[in-house]
Amino acid sequence: MSAVAAADAARIARERFGIDARATALPGELDLNFALDGPGGRHVLKLYAPGTEERSLDLQDAALEHLAGLAVVPRLVRTVDGAARTEADNRPVRVLTWLTGTPWAHEKAHTPATLASLGRTVALVDRALAGFEHSALTGRRRWNMTAAGDLLADADGDAAAVLDRFTADVLPRLRALPQQAIHNDANEHNVLVSAGGEVCGLIDFGDLCQAPRVCGLAVACAYAMALLPVPERQVLPLVAGYHAVAPLAPEELALLPDLIRTRLAMSVAMAVRQRREQPDNAYLLISQQSVPALLRRLGRVPRELEGLRLRAACGYEAVPHARAVRGFLQTTQAGPVCNPPLHEAPLLDWSAGAPGADQMPATLPAIGRYLEDRLLYDSDAFVTELPGERRTLHLGVDVFLDAGEPILAPLDGVVRDSAHRPARRDFGGVVLLDHETAAGVPFHTLYGHLTAELPARGTRIARGSVIGHVGGPEENGGWAPHLHLQLLSTHLGAGCGVDGVGTLAERDLWESVNPDPNLLLGLPGGVRAKPPRATADVLTARRSLLSRTLSISYAEPLRIVRGAGAHLYDEHGTAYLDLVNNVCHVGHAHPRVVRAAADQMARLNTNTRYLHDLIVTYARRLTATLPDPLSVVFLVNSGSEANDLALRLARAHTGARDVLVLDHAYHGNLASLIEISPYKFAGPGGSGRPEHVHVCALPRVAADAADVRRLAEDSAPAAFIAESLPSVAGQFVLPPGYLEAAYTHARAAGAVCIADEVQVGFGRVGSAFWGFELGGVVPDIVTLGKPIGNGHPIGAVVTTPAIARSFENGMEYFNTFGGNPVSCAAALAVLDVIADERLQANAARVGARMLDGLRGLARRHQLIGDVRGAGLFIGVELTDQGGDPATAAAAAVIERARRDRVLLSTDGPHRNVLKIKPPMVVGDADAERFLEVLDAALGHYRP
Ligand code: PMP
Repeated sequence: MSAVAAADAARIARERFGIDARATALPGELDLNFALDGPGGRHVLKLYAPGTEERSLDLQDAALEHLAGLAVVPRLVRTVDGAARTEADNRPVRVLTWLTGTPWAHEKAHTPATLASLGRTVALVDRALAGFEHSALTGRRRWNMTAAGDLLADADGDAAAVLDRFTADVLPRLRALPQQAIHNDANEHNVLVSAGGEVCGLIDFGDLCQAPRVCGLAVACAYAMALLPVPERQVLPLVAGYHAVAPLAPEELALLPDLIRTRLAMSVAMAVRQRREQPDNAYLLISQQSVPALLRRLGRVPRELEGLRLRAACGYEAVPHARAVRGFLQTTQAGPVCNPPLHEAPLLDWSAGAPGADQMPATLPAIGRYLEDRLLYDSDAFVTELPGERRTLHLGVDVFLDAGEPILAPLDGVVRDSAHRPARRDFGGVVLLDHETAAGVPFHTLYGHLTAELPARGTRIARGSVIGHVGGPEENGGWAPHLHLQLLSTHLGAGCGVDGVGTLAERDLWESVNPDPNLLLGLPGGVRAKPPRATADVLTARRSLLSRTLSISYAEPLRIVRGAGAHLYDEHGTAYLDLVNNVCHVGHAHPRVVRAAADQMARLNTNTRYLHDLIVTYARRLTATLPDPLSVVFLVNSGSEANDLALRLARAHTGARDVLVLDHAYHGNLASLIEISPYKFAGPGGSGRPEHVHVCALPRVAADAADVRRLAEDSAPAAFIAESLPSVAGQFVLPPGYLEAAYTHARAAGAVCIADEVQVGFGRVGSAFWGFELGGVVPDIVTLGKPIGNGHPIGAVVTTPAIARSFENGMEYFNTFGGNPVSCAAALAVLDVIADERLQANAARVGARMLDGLRGLARRHQLIGDVRGAGLFIGVELTDQGGDPATAAAAAVIERARRDRVLLSTDGPHRNVLKIKPPMVVGDADAERFLEVLDAALGHYRP
């Protein structure tokens, strides 16, 4: 095999591929690989073993061509004659581009983020290979898992058992899964990691084959797990990462634990075979220590639990049938678990573990509802906690009763297991019962801390009969006498050795395995503690449970738990000055608004089909802020709903359909509004301008209203809609005279004029209550949202009596939540606070101070291209030396300000405009702080 020297490799590269480079030998399994370093960068020269199957090489060539667009895969470099490969010294030869990165095997630590990126990379390649066809794909291939049974002859012990099970139980189910071409060899030498810890390459397509795609994922998992201390848990981000790019079906996840074991067993058996065939090849020994060890460890992990973990990691409920169990129990009257009535028992919240006998609760019975803050159960040698973790999540409920109190079966059941383990930190006497739902779905109940007198396995226990008796401290590890009651949707094969506590990080898993025990007790106050989720858990759960089209601010997301005035507070109590939230208009959690809404919520919340004075009181108060003839109000739930209704009103009134909008505008998330929002339809994922929509240029001067005239004359539109101060388009104040001219042209063509005041209304602009007042116009329809309820979801449309009449065509307008008394109470309180706290005047004064300070900064920082705004509606446009949008600078400034605890955001088509639209209660000191932080952030920025 070593017949080819580096000098030969260099010659082949030069003569056949036109690459003048120094060659260095690389390790390899069967083939000879050389790194080529030359002026054209780095390449790899691969010399295949003489006699390597042509079909197999053709297959690889075709696959690499197919994947040429993927950055994570090497590209094929053709020969001087334009061929995919050539032959030298009797060996097929090919040159590939070199991917920079460290092999996975050489990385010291594999973080969850790195693992997730491995999953995403494998999924990306699988996705790209999904349509790939080749005649050589279907042939039997060495590492194809569907042929794992062939290796049985070389396997013994653990590996043989796994391969046996594979052939008997797994393969038939595997064959039912969709197949495609897969890379099939994401082992620790074929995966490259960038300096930043992201997987950046997947190499070696020699094991490419046609198989269920989950087999390829199993390969990646198996090799990654071999290098992880708690593999069955630490592998989860890898699978979740794959699922994020190429969603996995439950049937695929169900087989993954078996397939991982199968791949490990294949590896062990293959090593035996290869050592026999090639006793001298050192490469073959690689990974042969960790693989059998992992296989042994996995033998101790319940395969079912592993499957449940994988489901939970991908956002599926862990136990598929848990829903049926909960559904059954919610409609079933279980009997009492003890004679003393628990409905009168106090709920005791502990933040520490269960009390000892010396801390017995004063009143019995009592319900212990708590998070353990210490490890209740010492782990044995088999550690399932990650470093720094403790099992603090109580999976059952503790019912404190006198020692000797009989415990009754709440449902008919059969004893699956019973045992007495009096040791400290154990359950004492414990009984596990089997039950089933009316539809035959099995579930279980567990009773711990009983005396040693227990029913034997297989005993039938009728509902209401005695299971056992509460044990005293002496037979119960020293604890105060109590029953530990736990409900299980699956017993995981452990008999009575059930876990009574779990880690908070796996809360979703454990809450599925252990449904809320109050499904049996039915106590009105609930018995389950509701611990906060760890921040990392919130992030991962969000990724799988929510649509990833929801974005999160900042490179390091903020976890905000409280707000007051113009400040937000994270989970550590750190205060952030909030300069972007124009929803909590009169200040976060304003006590007057909170009280108004809470009081009304405590009294009544209904729809508008009953008479209620709040809706008319609010309508009157709202129209009192608006000029004639804007006097008819519709209450809705959001700015989007308001704009959608405004379009309906305009169309009903004019009989026309077309709409004129300003460029870059956004008017809401409904289908009707994406259609009229250039920011969306012309942006990423947008499907372009619909025919009935006409986009007017964002004006620089009043004369630009000519665009409105031209488009209005051509299209005879139903409406001209514009924000009175364009915000999403980049925080603009419209040029004086523009709105007046635009409205005149639109009306001349028969259109009605809609002012979108969702962002800018309610005194924000300082010198007026409404933005349109700055333009000297009176719209025909005004739409309101965001600030109107200080965070409570409400929106409004206000229009003229004439337009309102046109809408009355016999069809009822009904909106379940719109105009409900709670929303009205909140909105009314907002108007009161704006008036009583003189917030409009505050916006004018503090806004002017900010604008002034910003203009001062603009003189010192070349990055500031423009400062504009009115009141507390301000835009700071960042531009580079050539006057082009400084998008990266804007992003950097925002991140830097966040570190200094000032929250800003960007807007505009190039996201280079800092937007400032804080709650109306910001003060002078806040303004100064903002200016200082921005000054520092701008000064710190280096392109
Ligand atoms: N109009 C404008 C100008 C907006 O900025 C928004 C929201 N950003 C909306 C309408 C839609 O409001 P909502 O998200 O409450 O539906």
